[in-house]
Amino acid sequence: MTTGIELKNLRKMYESHGHAAWAVDGVDMTIGAGKFVTLLGPSGCGKTTTLRMIAGLEIPTSGQILRDGMDITDQPVTDRDMRMVFQDFALFPNMTVEENVAFGLRVRRMKGSISESEIRKRVAQFLDLVHLADHGQKKPHQLSGGQKQRVSLARALVTDPKVVLFDEPLGSLDANLRKIMQIELIRLHRELGKTFIYVTHDQDEAMAMSDAIAVMSGGKVAQFGAPREIYDRPVNRYVASFIGHAHIVDAEVDGRESGELTLRLRNGERVALPHQNTTAGVGSPVGLMLRAEDLTFADQAPGAIGGRIADSLYRGEYIEYVVELHGGAGVVHVHSRTDTPLVRHGASVALKVNPAKAHVLVH
Ligand code: ATP
Repeated sequence: MTTGIELKNLRKMYESHGHAAWAVDGVDMTIGAGKFVTLLGPSGCGKTTTLRMIAGLEIPTSGQILRDGMDITDQPVTDRDMRMVFQDFALFPNMTVEENVAFGLRVRRMKGSISESEIRKRVAQFLDLVHLADHGQKKPHQLSGGQKQRVSLARALVTDPKVVLFDEPLGSLDANLRKIMQIELIRLHRELGKTFIYVTHDQDEAMAMSDAIAVMSGGKVAQFGAPREIYDRPVNRYVASFIGHAHIVDAEVDGRESGELTLRLRNGERVALPHQNTTAGVGSPVGLMLRAEDLTFADQAPGAIGGRIADSLYRGEYIEYVVELHGGAGVVHVHSRTDTPLVRHGASVALKVNPAKAHVLVH
């Protein structure tokens, strides 16, 4: 049975200068075989430590790591059938591209498990896979950042590991190259069908590439789910603000009727939403998550929220308006098409919420 990787109450404590702190504090997660799963979160939330424990580069303080149902918590790095790709490429500077890629296979050859001609064949095949067939004789210093990362990818993949671990592999590349490499990684994942476990603090990258994302905070997993689930239905304010820069307006449940939930904002205005999957009763404080793309300017109509344009930013693809809601009820952003007339600074506006996308947060 292939169940992929399971983390069971995984914890890691570090001690420095007599002070002990949990870097990873009880992570439970099942990463299905062949899936692309990303650990996402701000600096210091424990992503790298979790990844390094999976790789066998850090020893967990407690908890278990299973691969395909087998406990590998105490297994040495070399027996884990996993390879890691690092942000700084970690290539051997004195070796050619071919030699770098062949390195892991040559170690095997010493054990007699692979022939020299098979090594050459596999190296050529994997350099071709990462579009570096013509660069085999170069040294790392003769390559661009993107090419170096392709070499380290080929080097990780050539030994045919079950799991490939990535620690911010695109972190040192410029924005355009990152986008190209994201597409390359998705292609490689699709073609090779291996389990990819990826660490990043870049939410766009996580959303674009992953089958599932674990949003981490303070050594714990705040939410684990498909990108769309995390974006549309974040479990709390932390996840909502970390993913897609949502704005959260404080409100109170004003009424619950069949199929409809009415919220009262701090300025007394009411917003009616289709039934939400929340148990918050009448009078409970909640947060109304409003994303810029889910708000539109409306005519003064019942159910619209009133506000005033505080700022507008031309973003090329769209105009981003900063809208202060009346009565200090909060601030939201609205994206508007660039071919619509500019709404002037200070103008009063009414906003309509896309009822299918509005989301109520109780935590
Ligand atoms: P980043 O994106 O900055 O790499 P991260 O989410 O990967 O952050 P970790 O590197 O896992 O975070 O670190 C988690 C916590 O553990 C941090 O507070 C960090 O300072 C601490 N930590 C990590 N490694 C060590 C170590 N070797 N000794 C002591 N503390 C450590």
